[in-house]
Amino acid sequence: MDDRARVCVVVIEDDPQIRRFLRTALGAEGMTVCECATGHAGLLEVSARQPDLVILDLGLPDLEGIEVIRGVRGWSGVPILVLSARTQETEKVAALDAGADDYLTKPFGVAELLARLRAHLRRRDLPREGADPQCRFGQVCIDFAARIVTRGGEPVHLTPIEYRLLTVLARNPGKVLTQRALLREVWGPGHSQDGHYLRIYMANLRRKLELDPARPAHLITETGVGYRLVTG
Ligand code: CA
Repeated sequence: MDDRARVCVVVIEDDPQIRRFLRTALGAEGMTVCECATGHAGLLEVSARQPDLVILDLGLPDLEGIEVIRGVRGWSGVPILVLSARTQETEKVAALDAGADDYLTKPFGVAELLARLRAHLRRRDLPREGADPQCRFGQVCIDFAARIVTRGGEPVHLTPIEYRLLTVLARNPGKVLTQRALLREVWGPGHSQDGHYLRIYMANLRRKLELDPARPAHLITETGVGYRLVTG
């Protein structure tokens, strides 16, 4: 059986047109799609089905999207991709901070949707967090055990903060990490407002690791939200 045939996605979205779009796009990839039009129905479906992935609209008639995320995160680490309207930019960040993995802003295309889903399904198939000894992207290899970063086989010197920032991103490939989450992880809880630290250190990492630091292919800025490491 094709591996993707076993992938089950729960879609929680009240707009029937978007549900139909998702059903068609994911069905064509051989995925099983379970549709729910409300947050309560979605929570039940996620607990009953134990899906491989959840797609969640933030604007639901009965529950705030963030309540659905907190509910799911109470018992499951399943990847959650949120769908937001342009008017929901702050809710999007709150959703990521509450435990969502990624977001798409409506309207979005099939190619973008499928690329994101694949990245999260790949991550699900990785060894458990902390167990994977290496992360590779482009010409870069991070050896977590030895704490060595190489580019094209040559060692790259990183400062302790640069290394910590890189490893937080590398432990979560494909996942959008909000500025607040990164600042907390790298600098500690007292620094959640110091976004300029991040910009400086991300620029340093790009200069050292990207082929074209001005047009990064891996260390990606999610404008107004945070950063994501793209490994694929
Ligand atoms: Ca909606």
